[in-house]
Amino acid sequence: MSRPARVDYDLEAAKANLQRVRGLAPRQKIMAIIKADAYGHGLQRMAAAFSAADAFGVACLEEAQGLRDRGVKHPIVLLEGPFSPGELREMQRLALDIVIHHDEQIAMLRDLPEGHRLGVWLKVDSGMHRLGFAPQRVRGVWEDLQRCGAVAPPVRLMTHLACAHERGHPSVPVQLACFAQACADIRTERCIANSAALLAWPAAYADWVRPGIMLYGVSPFTDSSAAAEGLRPVMSLRSQLIAVKTVRAGEGVGYGGDWHCPEDMPIGIVALGYGDGYPRHARPGTPVLVNGKRTALIGKASMDMLSVDLRPVPAAAVGDPVLLWGAGLAVEEVARWADTIPYEILCGVRGRPRFLDPNAG
Ligand SMILES: *Cc1c(COP(=O)(O)O)cnc(C)c1O
Repeated sequence: MSRPARVDYDLEAAKANLQRVRGLAPRQKIMAIIKADAYGHGLQRMAAAFSAADAFGVACLEEAQGLRDRGVKHPIVLLEGPFSPGELREMQRLALDIVIHHDEQIAMLRDLPEGHRLGVWLKVDSGMHRLGFAPQRVRGVWEDLQRCGAVAPPVRLMTHLACAHERGHPSVPVQLACFAQACADIRTERCIANSAALLAWPAAYADWVRPGIMLYGVSPFTDSSAAAEGLRPVMSLRSQLIAVKTVRAGEGVGYGGDWHCPEDMPIGIVALGYGDGYPRHARPGTPVLVNGKRTALIGKASMDMLSVDLRPVPAAAVGDPVLLWGAGLAVEEVARWADTIPYEILCGVRGRPRFLDPNAG
């Protein structure tokens, strides 16, 4: 038997999540965000699952190349645009759309020899202060880009919200007003909303929406579950018990030995650890399903293994199935126990070759 750690992807759930976005924003176009290997779900796999989207958003040229190599014809938007002038020729060749957020990038465009004209999204810094042009510069930069020979007009406008995941946060209307004012009397398409804005801020819908995390069936909020938002988890991370034993009261379990058995108790060792993307900082008590029953992590996860409390599942035996998150156990909950956010956990599940994908052909 090979190592039982595996991940699977519910592609029907992924399609249903995209439909959920359509239901929320039926008049908007959808740019499905599949950066970071589709939040750890596999770029190609998720591009296929989200083929009903109007465009894809990625973080870098390599991701876009991977999609074009596999015949993806959708518009593909590079969310941070070009990082160096050398990339622009390839972006032309692949007919990619680019976000322009900095003067250096405009200079790169001006120096570009004739070729395919690139679709451009002008990024406005409406208050998050990550990427984008200051509001008072937007009109001028927009006109410069419209006139640039390397650019296919009309140049579109986008901004990003810093606090959309906090319901009722006062910065959101401030950012929306700032963006509206910066873009006043520019006639072109606009895009603002990430997943949180789609679920909580209809005023941010504009012409395009840019969901990421919700497409993978995960809530962007700390105070609501995916199910409550009408979303279905896509990724399930599974393994099996590879050892079962009884440990005496007071004995330590795992590296450091600082988790002590409160009584004589059965424990199980699971073939899955931080080398597979399980968060090393998950605290004892983090929920785990053994045989479909809830129990808890004990001790610290190690690279290839972790330990679980088998008191709630006393009949558990070697070979029994373990679910770390997915259908039946929300990754949001695991993230809380690990003092992080589901985004980081999902992105961490990448490319361990021993993972088996039952959907792979
Ligand atoms: C990642 C990203 C998104 C998607 O955000 P979610 O919170 O995952 O929906 C949208 N827009 C930009 C610019 C991003 O970088």
